[in-house]
Amino acid sequence: MNIILIGPPGAGKGTQAKRLVAERGMVQLSTGDMLREAKDSGTEMGQRVAEVMSKGALVTDEIVIGLIAEKLDSLGDAGAIFDGFPRTLAQADALDALLQKRGTPIAHVIEVRVNDEALVARISGRFSCASCGEVYHDVTRPTRQPGICDVCGSTEFTRRADDNEESLRARLMSYYKQTSPLLGYYHAKGQLSVVDGMGEMDIVAQQISAVLDH
Ligand code: AMP
Repeated sequence: MNIILIGPPGAGKGTQAKRLVAERGMVQLSTGDMLREAKDSGTEMGQRVAEVMSKGALVTDEIVIGLIAEKLDSLGDAGAIFDGFPRTLAQADALDALLQKRGTPIAHVIEVRVNDEALVARISGRFSCASCGEVYHDVTRPTRQPGICDVCGSTEFTRRADDNEESLRARLMSYYKQTSPLLGYYHAKGQLSVVDGMGEMDIVAQQISAVLDH
């Protein structure tokens, strides 16, 4: 089963996607993660991507569609969680076409809905384990032992370069201008479900499971 998680930056899409990977053996396809890898690769494309991302703007459709097409080729039979993709109507069309070719359409599009005011606080305290990617928060979800990852024991952590208030405002603007029209599109196709992303992580996960098991 293929699903899309859609919501503004900081809504918790990545966290929920990781749970679905652990609990259901699905595969997380995060274009944000793919682009951060490209950025770190030091290639010319990586440098261009880094510049766009640091401004909180969207990378071109051509680049992200290319990344997703490549990943889908090596996906096998596991269900995919599209996290942060599609973000434009052109990307949504391209995804439909790619999945139609594979005979595995989107089963559910889940909007993780949150209040904008909560996002600044969520994003500005966010950090993750450099080794396993587990996501933490300075205030709401610190590591159990200071400086040690709960999951893998690593002592290295990273903070995203675009997790600051200025970039967040631009990322929110991109979301409302370019991505939120997708909600109407998927609603019209009868694929959209909404979950309340303001609750505890476990409660949000339960709501998502209810949609998938419906
Ligand atoms: P994310 O990790 O999903 O918050 O994405 C981080 C940044 O990567 C975004 O602010 C964009 O600059 C870029 N990005 C991620 N996914 C896409 C996409 N589907 N289309 C365009 N740009 C993207």
